[in-house]
Amino acid sequence: MIIGAGGVGRVVAYKCAQHPEVFSHIMLASRTKSKCDAIAKDAVAASGHQNFTTAKVDAENVPELVALIKSFGPDMVLHVALPYQDLTIMDACLEAGVHYLDTANYEPKDEAKFEYSWQWAYQDRFKDAGLTAVLGCGFDPGVTSIFTAHAAKHHFDEIHYLDIVDCNGGDHGKAFATNFNPEINIREITQKGRYWENGQWIETEPFEIKKELNYPNIGARNSYVLYHEELESLVKNYPSIKRARFWMTFGDEYLTHLRVIENIGMSRIDPVMYNGQEIIPLKFLKEVLPDPGSLGDNYVGETSIGCRIRGIKDGKERTYYIWNNCSHAAAFKETGAQGVSYTTGVPAMLGAEMMMTKQWLKPGVFNVEEFNPDPFLAKMGEYGLEWQEAFDVDLEV
Ligand code: NDP
Repeated sequence: MIIGAGGVGRVVAYKCAQHPEVFSHIMLASRTKSKCDAIAKDAVAASGHQNFTTAKVDAENVPELVALIKSFGPDMVLHVALPYQDLTIMDACLEAGVHYLDTANYEPKDEAKFEYSWQWAYQDRFKDAGLTAVLGCGFDPGVTSIFTAHAAKHHFDEIHYLDIVDCNGGDHGKAFATNFNPEINIREITQKGRYWENGQWIETEPFEIKKELNYPNIGARNSYVLYHEELESLVKNYPSIKRARFWMTFGDEYLTHLRVIENIGMSRIDPVMYNGQEIIPLKFLKEVLPDPGSLGDNYVGETSIGCRIRGIKDGKERTYYIWNNCSHAAAFKETGAQGVSYTTGVPAMLGAEMMMTKQWLKPGVFNVEEFNPDPFLAKMGEYGLEWQEAFDVDLEV
């Protein structure tokens, strides 16, 4: 059962429908049923899947959700709605006795604060119920953590420096648009930066650390250190890491728009009174910005996301770069969604396949790097996200 019918939900629906041998019965449920119906129509037309249904659900209403899960009877819920719904969906999964997977960690609505503590607190309940919850199985978090697990398993005795680099080298032709839910995206990038060094978190001003990095097939792009959720679990699961950072590219135009949005108060998440009615400026802004799901048409260029790693193997220092490039146009041609939705939806579907085929199934709550990366990476290229690696290269960071 897939919850959420946005850009990522579209890709997940398409990809699951392509694999009826794993996903024999699919339900796509979301707040707006007409969006589910439109996606289902396209996904079924493209794949010929025989058992694809849709439903309306408010994922913040646990009894409603439990009733829907019980009526459909899935093995698992694939949550690609919004991070605000993580906990209610986890509660419903426990009550209905099904496995859980998501792509983004819980955030309370009234505070832009993302950390795993709320979801890690479900560990005993999932364990006792014999159920699995897989957290953060998109691209970043998701594949970046699986890349790190692969590096740790096959290429390093100890990882010392980890730099996750996320470049969107694409152009959608709009003056300003976000590539996934604008509310979630703007909350994330206007936060203070944070990275891990020598056993502690170092905080920076937003966009304080900047470097020009070169991305395969794209070239040089200004890249900025920001906080990203997978750092929290990676430094816990790989204690040899001395420094872990996350870099994302932003163009000057984008940053100018963002600065104006902040300066005029449109990124505020506290309610203001307007015409006798409470509105949240950032939620209003979301309504007037382009829908990320509509960006695919004419979106050119590629994304390039990967991990640049320095550490020790057999007593010698080594550098290693592992990455995926994804073409927006190819993603759109296949699924009707742009590359950012595609690079999130494919890993979510593949993670679900790992669970359905019992390769990633153990009772409890886990981040993706806690599972065997091999079967996942063995299939990722075939499912649309080829990955590449290079040894002993200049990491630039
Ligand atoms: P969208 O905003 O396009 O879609 C979100 C969907 O969730 C919409 O269909 C929306 O319904 C639905 N929804 C919202 N609230 C509820 C609710 N209470 N009950 C049921 N459905 C609800 O987002 P994206 O598809 O771009 O992103 C989906 C998720 O993926 C987000 O959590 C995002 O953070 C995550 N993500 C993760 C990435 C990664 O690499 N790990 C990268 C990009 C995104 P409606 O249509 O009615 O508004």
